[in-house]
Amino acid sequence: MFPQDDDRRGLLADLAETNRLLKLAEQIAHVGHWRLYFATGERQWSDETYRIFGQDPTMPVPAVTANWNGYLESDWALVRSTLRSAIDNQQDFTVEARVIRPNGEIRNVEIRGIYDLANGGKSLFGVIIDLTDQKQAEARYRLLADHTTDMIVHADRHSKRLYVSPSSRDLLGFEPDDLVGRQVGGLLHPADEQAHRDITQGLERGEIEHAANRQRFTRKDGTHVWTESRFRILRDELGAPNGYIVSIRDCSLSKAAEDDAERMARHDPLTGLGNRTLFRERLDQAIASLGDDGTTFALLWMDLDRFKAINDSFGHLLGDRALSIIADRITSVVDPADTVARLGGDEFIILMNKSIPARAEALAQQVMVAVSRPIDLDGQRLCVGVSIGIASLPVESCQADVLLKNADLALYRAKRSGRNTFCWFESAMEATGQARLRMEIEMQAAIRNGGFVLHYQPILDINDGEIHGSEALVRWRHPERGMIPPSDFIPLAEETGLIVPLGDWVLHEACREAAQWPGSPQIAVNVSGCQFTPQGLEARVIAALNASGLDPARLELEITESVLIDDEDTVLKSLVRLRSLGVKIALDDFGTGYSSLSYLRRFQFDRIKIDRSFVNEIASPSAAAIIRAVAGLASEMGIKVTAEGIETPEQLRLVREYGCTHAQGFLFSRPTESHHVRALLARQQSRRQTSAPTWTGPLPDAAVLRETG
Ligand code: C2E
Ligand code: MG
Ligand code: MG
Repeated sequence: MFPQDDDRRGLLADLAETNRLLKLAEQIAHVGHWRLYFATGERQWSDETYRIFGQDPTMPVPAVTANWNGYLESDWALVRSTLRSAIDNQQDFTVEARVIRPNGEIRNVEIRGIYDLANGGKSLFGVIIDLTDQKQAEARYRLLADHTTDMIVHADRHSKRLYVSPSSRDLLGFEPDDLVGRQVGGLLHPADEQAHRDITQGLERGEIEHAANRQRFTRKDGTHVWTESRFRILRDELGAPNGYIVSIRDCSLSKAAEDDAERMARHDPLTGLGNRTLFRERLDQAIASLGDDGTTFALLWMDLDRFKAINDSFGHLLGDRALSIIADRITSVVDPADTVARLGGDEFIILMNKSIPARAEALAQQVMVAVSRPIDLDGQRLCVGVSIGIASLPVESCQADVLLKNADLALYRAKRSGRNTFCWFESAMEATGQARLRMEIEMQAAIRNGGFVLHYQPILDINDGEIHGSEALVRWRHPERGMIPPSDFIPLAEETGLIVPLGDWVLHEACREAAQWPGSPQIAVNVSGCQFTPQGLEARVIAALNASGLDPARLELEITESVLIDDEDTVLKSLVRLRSLGVKIALDDFGTGYSSLSYLRRFQFDRIKIDRSFVNEIASPSAAAIIRAVAGLASEMGIKVTAEGIETPEQLRLVREYGCTHAQGFLFSRPTESHHVRALLARQQSRRQTSAPTWTGPLPDAAVLRETG
């Protein structure tokens, strides 16, 4: 064997292997190659080219005949003219066409050719690429894109739209052709442009792979539609950013539902005003945006006066309607830039921007005027007042909680200083507020632990000097502060609702005590308006009577006019039921209110207690005239009259002369511990049994009692 033969053989083997690999490569890539010697018309095909045309590679390249030229009839002309022009102009070319195989199968191909100068410019050399699978996939995707309800946009890497799916008609009212070739982003709501630009620029630069956002598009008719857009980057074979796909979906329905949910979470369904959450957010924002420019704001915390009474007597339905009317009225006087919220129940709050004291006060006045206008509900007319606490900046620490607490304290002061009024926060209130809270906690404990005690003040029959009964007056035996008078804690007990358990205790204790008294005298118990709860004061009175075994006719409940003002209807009904049990009802502190006389017409009281301010002034002709008139009126109506606060024999003489039937005051006895009253009653009882007393002056015991009180 010659070495050259070995070389040749080696070379031939290499060549054969190269050919084999080339064939395999062509087969895998669905790419065949061909050559056309255009001078002779001779053609050469690779195996894969045969395969693409559906021909047998062992056979010669098939001749172009009248019946078959390898292509669909319509495409053959294009292929032929492309080849012709490539030969004539010695040019490279690319053409797409459809091949038809002898069995009728059609393949999509791309033919690329070069004018091959290497062989003396005698041939065209090229490849034929079978694109059928790719084309089919493309067609499938196109079909999907064309028929999905989302609008699909294919943009190039300069954000120019290459493709827009037909859903653009439904979504935006534009034909796809109106949009193709234009820049993405041109149809956006101005407010959404920046966010959109940030995304598309990120995609163009290849910094973002995918993104999603909510944006409003402008429709052809100028309206806006909320959409949810999803972006995905496209990259070329080398991984360089090569445009992106956006699918855009109409989300106006879900957006509306979300907006509703969002609204509900931040608004009060009854009045449509903001709720506590919204208010708190706005307050925090206002505090966060406080600058050095001196801008400030104020809080006006409002609480309706006597609204509970309206709910109780008109029912919650009408109560709710009244609340919405009031909410509208408040809104109507408030600047749109300010926030009005309902904090719950009958409490509202205004966050007033850029406030100065004069403006805040003017607004408070406007709110009071607006709210207190009578409200007509189904022919019923109701009047509601409003108390307002105002707190504004600057305060030492600009914290929302501090401001709120200040406004609350100011509101508390407004309520105490006679409703339908407003009050500014003052730093002194802080201490008051803390003391109030401490007292409330202590009072709760005292109710549980027997920290209260009843003193009793005798009430005398003015004609015979006999003790007719006693009034139970509560005191708080405070471990540090000693005996606290009711005027110091009853208002807070009423405000906090603690008066209900406390009043219960008083009722039970007074009935229990009086049941043991000799001679069956009356026992008078003071009752606050808050004790007329929907569950009924009657039930608790009956419980106290049952527990003690006291005859109902011996119990007298003292109510003041303010009880009636608070909720006349409910209270009067309750009083009627109590009276039908046999319990007596007295109108306390008569003359201190505005319409004492009108109540006498509406309810059959058993007793009037003329307030001690009249007795105090009895030397003045007008006070004297009033006592005389009231006593005269009461006598005509068969009502007993007690004069309160008798301190001197002269006062006693006069009230007796003016026609009062009973007297109560320090002249006879201060309120005192039960055992003193019991002793007094026992002595009276034994006196009664021995001889009937004819009384002409203060009781002999008075001096003793005065010392003990
Ligand atoms: P009130 O029902 O008008 O009770 C009479 C008040 O006048 C008592 O004051 C009594 O000590 C005082 N007083 C009686 N005679 C004289 C007098 O000659 N001169 C002077 N200066 N005062 C006299 P007190 O005990 O401080 O009670 C004040 C108010 O507290 C009571 O006025 C009543 O409205 C309320 N109160 C007392 N106990 C209770 C209670 O158990 N429940 C409720 N809801 N209120 C109560
Ligand atoms: Mg009283
Ligand atoms: Mg009184």
